[in-house]
Amino acid sequence: MNLIFLGAPGAGKGTQAEVVCKELNIPAISTGNMLREAVKNGTPAGLAAKAYMDRGDLVPDEVVIGILKDRIAEDDAKNGFILDGFPRTVAQAEALEKMGVNIDKVVEIHVPDEAITARMSGRRVCEGCGNSYHIQYKPTKVEGICDACGAKVVQRVDDKPETVISRLKTYHEKTAPLKDFYAAKGKLVTVEGQDEISETSKLTLAAIKG
Ligand code: ADP
Ligand code: ZN
Repeated sequence: MNLIFLGAPGAGKGTQAEVVCKELNIPAISTGNMLREAVKNGTPAGLAAKAYMDRGDLVPDEVVIGILKDRIAEDDAKNGFILDGFPRTVAQAEALEKMGVNIDKVVEIHVPDEAITARMSGRRVCEGCGNSYHIQYKPTKVEGICDACGAKVVQRVDDKPETVISRLKTYHEKTAPLKDFYAAKGKLVTVEGQDEISETSKLTLAAIKG
């Protein structure tokens, strides 16, 4: 099963991808996490991506497509995967088709913009493994420490309010057109994001299985 999770920044794609991948036993592949890792390690892709990410702009298609292509060629992705944060442009969706990847379903997690900006200030991410948290909706067991790997949990530089507004604008301009792209292929399902993470998970799993 090859799935795409689509949604505005902070809609909960990453969190739901972490839940659903365990349920379906397939990896969740987050281009955002891979790019942050590349930046941390100072790889060529990371160096190319950093300035765009800090501003809240999209990283150029060719950089992201290269990273994604290598990742889905790995062994653990043979039986399927969840793409979290890719594709983010129509050009990326077309590149996926050119790679010969068949997508079974595209799950859009819909959250209104007003709710997004309110949520983002509480969002945290693990510096070690990339797991996502929220001080209110998904707190760590020990404050500031990742449940999964014990590394420090921090706020992302691009989660500042000004950057969030610009990322939302980019989402509506560049990524939201993918809804029509996949709806035309009969692959789009929309889930209303709930405040309670487990409620959204139920709806998401039902949408995938239905
Ligand atoms: P969110 O979903 O909260 O916006 P991500 O972790 O998915 O966060 O992405 C963080 C940043 O990484 C984006 O703002 C963008 O700069 C870059 N990025 C991630 N995925 C892509 C992609 N598919 N295409 C271009 N840029 C990307
Ligand atoms: Zn961690």
